Amino acid sequence: MPRFQCTTIVSNPFQQNTFVANLEGRADCLVVDPGLEPEKITQFLGEKDLEPAALLITHGHSDHIGGNHALKARWPDCPIIASVGDAVKLTDPQQNLSAQYGLAVTSPPADQTVSEGDLLQIAGFELEVLEIPGHSPGHVVFVWKGASPIVIFGGDVLFAGSIGRCDFADGNFDQLSQAIHGKIFTLPDDTLVLPGHGPNTTVGDEKRANPFVGRPAGYRD
Ligand SMILES: [Zn+2]
Repeated sequence: MPRFQCTTIVSNPFQQNTFVANLEGRADCLVVDPGLEPEKITQFLGEKDLEPAALLITHGHSDHIGGNHALKARWPDCPIIASVGDAVKLTDPQQNLSAQYGLAVTSPPADQTVSEGDLLQIAGFELEVLEIPGHSPGHVVFVWKGASPIVIFGGDVLFAGSIGRCDFADGNFDQLSQAIHGKIFTLPDDTLVLPGHGPNTTVGDEKRANPFVGRPAGYRD
């Protein structure tokens, strides 16, 4: 299997992680959740001679979509792929929570929408879409099951030692917890989780120690 290369680019002010991922020897890449400082992303792509084959959106909050305009301006043919449930947030500053911060962030609309079980073949990756509602109703994660270990582009679902906020008007802790238990904790312990904020983690570490959804919170395999 070709080597997986993945770089995390952190955007302020929310310390949001954008991931640029490609397979060694290939110039096409994934850009997951282009953040609010897209010049960092375009500069990195330029330095590495990488070309985005898709902008993958885990959910429609402004800190995860704020770079879409800039990347689409530079690579107009690169599709924005978002979930059926959260696509509406891309173009609505109220729904993507930017209006509340006085930013009024919007994105171009999604070029393609995805839902549970969809398989995406992009830049040599095969990614399965899983719906994990609770932080945002249409939140999805992208799971690369062909990798060893499995890799999850996870957005704001499961963090190292934490979970995505559920106190938004459309948040729901029970949904988030159930979806993590049913769809993420059922993956192997060494599954790598690349979250939307903070350091990487693994399914095993979060099962063992996560205070919100792991064993300290009563989770049992
Ligand atoms: Zn979010």
